[in-house]
Amino acid sequence: MYFGSVRFFKHLILTVIALLIITPTVLCIVLVGDNIKKADEISRLTSASQESSYSDSENSGALPQDGSSGENSSQESSDSNTENSSDSTASTSEQSGSSDIESSPEQTSSASESQTPATSEPQPDSSDPAQSQTDQSDPQSRPDSSGTSTEAPDYTALYPDLYADKYDGEYINDDNTVYLTFDDGPSVLTENIMYYLKQEGVTATFFVVPEDTEFCRSLLKKIHDAGYSIGIHSSSHDYDKIYGSVTDFLDDFYAAYKIVYEATGERPSIYRFPGGSVNDWNTDTREAIIKEMSRRGFEYFDWNVDSNDWQGYGWTQLYNNVTSDACELSTPVILFHDTGARENTVLVLEDIIAALKANGYSFGSLSQKAEPVHF
Ligand SMILES: [Zn+2]
Repeated sequence: MYFGSVRFFKHLILTVIALLIITPTVLCIVLVGDNIKKADEISRLTSASQESSYSDSENSGALPQDGSSGENSSQESSDSNTENSSDSTASTSEQSGSSDIESSPEQTSSASESQTPATSEPQPDSSDPAQSQTDQSDPQSRPDSSGTSTEAPDYTALYPDLYADKYDGEYINDDNTVYLTFDDGPSVLTENIMYYLKQEGVTATFFVVPEDTEFCRSLLKKIHDAGYSIGIHSSSHDYDKIYGSVTDFLDDFYAAYKIVYEATGERPSIYRFPGGSVNDWNTDTREAIIKEMSRRGFEYFDWNVDSNDWQGYGWTQLYNNVTSDACELSTPVILFHDTGARENTVLVLEDIIAALKANGYSFGSLSQKAEPVHF
């Protein structure tokens, strides 16, 4: 009789013990296997989203770059002195633009969206606009699990509306074309300059240092409506302030850009460096500034003829200086100044224009279609 026997109970106890050991062991093995699968899946998804996010951030807003310009060390020191000495009157305008004015909602939102999946670490609250803004303006301050150095500098996220349409076509054929350029205005002389330009039927370019005043805005609009080109020169024209860093340059540039855009309805796409592109103040920052401005689609113009009106030259000196230098070149880009202290510039303008016409030149206004003159 097996059931009820000692042998039966012995087998029963062994069976129960075996079940007690085997069941948890099997369960453990199953759960561990499942966890390993899940961990693999999480890691695969994380790396996929990081790759996609990095490529998004590299592509966003990346415009073609020109690279930096050639050097011309023989001209740079005299030209930088030129601008430095002549522009002291223009350094009083105010920094009128707040640094984060006009971040368009859609750009802000798309930028924060593209960054959200980039980090595998916890995001405090990505739906909080303030947090999103912080992340956007300082995307590289967050530690990155990949440890790569492919990230763009912080300043690339500043001023999301500060972009120009980069012209990639052929330059216009501008042989025997002279470009008259007037820096540092608008001023009380602007309308006098425009009077002579109109009388002679020629065009020109104004690289402006706009002030946040109604008077300045009305002059900007007159320049624009008369069909002359407007480029950005600076807001403060304060070399120490502008050239401290790329961010400093952008802050100053944007303040001027904003006034011009509001006054004229047109976004400037060209600029001229205060002191010229090569000067004693931007030695350390020049290359990075040009690279960033080029990435944003802007083109800069130096000059190849300096009227030296900043030196207080009289009529004869100005006339001889400009006409003799300009007639050596097929495409002269002549630097004048549109500031209250340069009356002689206005007085000699008509005769300089007449002399250039007599030498077979026509007149153009600068744009990205003109081949840039770089030092
Ligand atoms: Zn200047």
